[in-house]
Amino acid sequence: MKKQKPRVAFFDFASCEGCQLQIANLEEAVIDVTKLVDIVSFREVMKEHSDDYDIAVIEGSIMRPMDVERLKKIRKNAKVLVALGACACIGCVQRMVNQWPVEESIAAVYDKDPALNDNPYFANFKTKALDEVVTVDVYIPGCPIDRDEFCNVLAALLQGKKPPIPDYPVCVDCKKKENVCLYELSRVCMGPVARAGCGAICPTHGSECEACRGYVTHPEEDAHTEVLEKYEISAEQIMQLKSMFTYRYIEEKAKAEVEQ
Ligand code: SF4
Ligand code: SF4
Ligand code: SF4
Repeated sequence: MKKQKPRVAFFDFASCEGCQLQIANLEEAVIDVTKLVDIVSFREVMKEHSDDYDIAVIEGSIMRPMDVERLKKIRKNAKVLVALGACACIGCVQRMVNQWPVEESIAAVYDKDPALNDNPYFANFKTKALDEVVTVDVYIPGCPIDRDEFCNVLAALLQGKKPPIPDYPVCVDCKKKENVCLYELSRVCMGPVARAGCGAICPTHGSECEACRGYVTHPEEDAHTEVLEKYEISAEQIMQLKSMFTYRYIEEKAKAEVEQ
């Protein structure tokens, strides 16, 4: 009897859908992927949908009570749950909203429309990553994800191996490329704590790293703070830098301090 291929379903929550687009644009590699797995749901590229799947690949962050219920249902159905991209892994740019009271955010975006104050959509207007709601088995970082990394992770998963996600800082790859450090050019950068795997693409092209791939498992935050202080980076600049993609870590640090 022909062995059944693992069934993969894609889902999205609060996101720009750019990570799914990366997969939709796999080009010739898509043939290899479909040889290995059956894609049973993928709203961006097909009409069919099935709730019978082994691997759930989920893009987006969780922002509403209805998202929580939907995510728990997906988790129940899936043997393996993959968090796809920065929104799913850490909350990404929409997590910035967590730093202000809900009413302030609503007023800033929608002016002071009183009808919005009672809107249930805004009741829990806090962004969460997937693993703050359910167990996540595999993380694919980045904004957007890297297509090759997605294929490598999928291949590792199917072989029962550990997904090959680097766990060292962006600075390592940046140094290998012999880039002049942006701090020497009076710029700021999250490279010392950011997870590598992108080939230090931003500093290589003159843009600061904003840690879209999240932090390494054990970031040297104190050393990074020393660098920021040495170059006299203002507290405001530091906050801007750290809240773009990685406000999750600020929240977690504050929570840990309160619990101590
Ligand atoms: S991680 Fe970035 S590219 Fe991917 S869905 Fe979120 S915002 Fe879009
Ligand atoms: S530019 Fe950024 S990534 Fe490169 S060495 Fe400097 S701090 Fe590290
Ligand atoms: S250099 Fe930093 S911001 Fe740019 S892709 Fe890599 S991790 Fe993301």
